[in-house]
Amino acid sequence: LHFDSVPMFENDGCYRGTLFLLQDVTEIRKLEVMRSEFVANVSHELKTPIAAVKGFAETLLSGGVKDEDVARSFLQIIYDEGDRLNRLIGDILELSKIESRRVPLEYEPVHVRSLLASIFEVLASSAKSHSIVLMMEVPDELYMEADEDRLRQIFMNLLSNAISYTLEGGRVKVSVETVGEGEDENIRFLISDTGIGIPKKDLPRIFERFYRVDKARSRSSGGTGLGLSIVKHLVELHHGTVRVESKTGQGTTFILDLPLLHELN
Ligand code: ADP
Repeated sequence: LHFDSVPMFENDGCYRGTLFLLQDVTEIRKLEVMRSEFVANVSHELKTPIAAVKGFAETLLSGGVKDEDVARSFLQIIYDEGDRLNRLIGDILELSKIESRRVPLEYEPVHVRSLLASIFEVLASSAKSHSIVLMMEVPDELYMEADEDRLRQIFMNLLSNAISYTLEGGRVKVSVETVGEGEDENIRFLISDTGIGIPKKDLPRIFERFYRVDKARSRSSGGTGLGLSIVKHLVELHHGTVRVESKTGQGTTFILDLPLLHELN
């Protein structure tokens, strides 16, 4: 609580009373703390790839590396870390745009199967290289109202995670159910994998920005730690919910409930 007092006087200088001001600043403080935490996290995340780029470039410049293969592998690291910086900055900008609600959704009828099929096409080669089978159980006649680009982003993030955190020979599946009735009819998407799973203690935190169960694994799979917070925000913009169930060593299921229809304006 922020407190202020101002004594009030008449024109002739007589004391009239005191004006007290009480302002609830809890929300403002909370936002300030969140913002500075975010800045600290972002700086930390950016520092790691920048340090790698600088370090390897310095070694190359100093002429200490005579072996061409070694030099090439250093250049590859520099290139990959540059790529990683690019993804990080892209995700950070995206998240800050979504969080400040500067993303007006454009609802349109979406043919769910076609959307998922086009995402599967993009992910097919990375699934194949890990011998992971992609499956979908979605009726052909299913349409829903959504912002198609944003819905694509939601599935892309969840499915690429499912592939990254599943071992060779595993399976990643999308299935749908309808829940509720009439105006409250929701489509429930189940995005499940037979992967490494998420330990129980980490489950409540995985939608937080930059939270990862295993930083090394996330990094090597190209993760930024921002995918799930982007998903959560995009789902909430659609007035939906997302939650997760998981068993370590068995697999993970993300449960996504999205309204079938929206009030179009
Ligand atoms: P990242 O870029 O690290 O994948 P995300 O925000 O997308 O970041 O996910 C946060 C963390 O949640 C991941 O680092 C990983 O530890 C965990 N995670 C997300 N999806 C899965 C999954 N399908 N199976 C196991 N762990 C997962």
